[in-house]
Amino acid sequence: MDWDAFKALRGGVLAEPAAPGVVRLSESGLRPACRSFFYRIDTPDCAVLIDGGWGLARGRADLGLSPGKPVVAIATHSHSDHVGALHLAETRLGHAAEATVYDRLDPNETQARPWIDDLDFAADGTAVAPETYQQIPCRLTGTLADGARLDFGPALRLTVLHLPGHSPGSIGLLDEARGLFYTADTVHDGEIYDAIPGADRIALRLSHDRVLEVEFAQALPGHGALMSRSAVVERIERHRRERDR
Ligand SMILES: [Zn+2]
Ligand SMILES: [Zn+2]
Repeated sequence: MDWDAFKALRGGVLAEPAAPGVVRLSESGLRPACRSFFYRIDTPDCAVLIDGGWGLARGRADLGLSPGKPVVAIATHSHSDHVGALHLAETRLGHAAEATVYDRLDPNETQARPWIDDLDFAADGTAVAPETYQQIPCRLTGTLADGARLDFGPALRLTVLHLPGHSPGSIGLLDEARGLFYTADTVHDGEIYDAIPGADRIALRLSHDRVLEVEFAQALPGHGALMSRSAVVERIERHRRERDR
């Protein structure tokens, strides 16, 4: 089956509360192990979308976005499992180091391929032809640098941390008021990839050093469960032990 037919058949997004005012989104058409997590935060003036999954959202309604309300999407990085719904937002922000990838979302540049060529990712076992996988491009409307502050009013303020290593333009987003840290693929409880094209093991080590200095209550990663700060510390220490072996 081709990707667009699969999307029409198995598209849709699961929504679950993750923290006060924060909804965690994922795509039910995918096997749980292949899903990524992305997040919607509603403010009085706009909805903020942090990442956008593989692309099984068929429209704004699937994301629970109110018609007529502006949507600001923030991309933590340009890998295929996080960028699929970003085109649905009129404002799209990400780090300059990966800006050109969003222009076309070429499956080779988003690391979709060859990753998906042998990946059995459909929850119902459908074989999706990898050569038909093409996401809708989402050229950035603005870039984010380390230390940038995104002010959505009293309901939401986010600070950008440039955390290269998993990819050159990976960012984390810190919501100090809620004690939430969106860590994407830089820290999560699954395999942290640091040897794929664009990854840099030494840069990741320095980025993990930075994460260890951040105060937060809960990490909201791009994969796997929400993590306490102590779970994040343990995960980084385990990653280091594995690499030092
Ligand atoms: Zn990634
Ligand atoms: Zn990922």
